[in-house]
Amino acid sequence: MSNLEVAPDEMVCGSAQSHAGVELLVPRNVPLGGPRAMDVRRTLPQKQRSLIGAWCFLDHFGPDPVGETGGMAVPRHPHTGLQTVSWLFTGEVEHRDSAGFHAMVRPGELNLMTAGRGISHSEFSTPETSVLHGAQLWVALPDSARHVSPTFAHHRPEPLTGTGFAVSVFLGSLTVLQDHGADLHSSSPVATHTELLGAEIRLEPHTSIRVAVKAKHEHGVLLDSGTLHVGVDELPVDHLAYLPTGTQEITLTSGDQPVLALLIGGEPLGEQILMWWNFVGRTHDEVVEYRRQWQAEIGEEPGDTGSKRFGDFPSDTPAPLPAPVLPSVRLRPRD
Ligand code: MN
Repeated sequence: MSNLEVAPDEMVCGSAQSHAGVELLVPRNVPLGGPRAMDVRRTLPQKQRSLIGAWCFLDHFGPDPVGETGGMAVPRHPHTGLQTVSWLFTGEVEHRDSAGFHAMVRPGELNLMTAGRGISHSEFSTPETSVLHGAQLWVALPDSARHVSPTFAHHRPEPLTGTGFAVSVFLGSLTVLQDHGADLHSSSPVATHTELLGAEIRLEPHTSIRVAVKAKHEHGVLLDSGTLHVGVDELPVDHLAYLPTGTQEITLTSGDQPVLALLIGGEPLGEQILMWWNFVGRTHDEVVEYRRQWQAEIGEEPGDTGSKRFGDFPSDTPAPLPAPVLPSVRLRPRD
């Protein structure tokens, strides 16, 4: 997905102070452009907290009737320095990228695109899709990996199941602790550049599960639907609960309604990144150069296209998205 804000802010993202208990991150609605385009609920980044592990972006959408919203129609656009995770609950999205990958994104399946030094991709919901519902997340690549060659990985996790729950671990690993019976463990085979966790959690009403996680990780729980307590705190729908490092066990308890939630986590990135539009970099000048190269490569502005950072794309696809104008305020990562 592209950040289709008309005037996106440049944002410095780094670690934030945490306080005791669950911290609530409130979603904000962001229209994805166009006269009848879909809205997304963005919980990352925020001014108060911009990273959870290396997770730096979380857009949550639907369930949307595609007949009204037009679905997902994001033509070719660029990314640098990040990975994108598409996770659908309902619907189907066709992905195509300049590294030569073509994939159908379907519910319950991880599609992880690594932009590395640069990639461009398009995402369109398929004509068969009547309802679109899911999330797109971005992972910031650490400095040691942010210039790798672009690539794409696909994985369909086998859910961990028990009485009243199903947990699908698409990145990293976790253990569901059981009072009766053996603990259940799942690990994703998909390699990451920092330690990450990503899992879908489904609970039937009046179900409680205990999830063992790594204490050196920080975590977030996004509630899509249902009534959910994270520990003793009730989490409003569409909100993201933040849990600081030091958490070894997360108890998730449903109320009268079935729960659909995402659990994300990871080791704190320990680096400051600069995010603007679809680019992650480290300095303002770097982002300016990414923008210049993209505009030159798509013929929007004159300039040297050099090594074609954003690759080639089939010519019979819709016109690429030009970059917005850069903000006049110049940001620098804080010390
Ligand atoms: Mn994208």
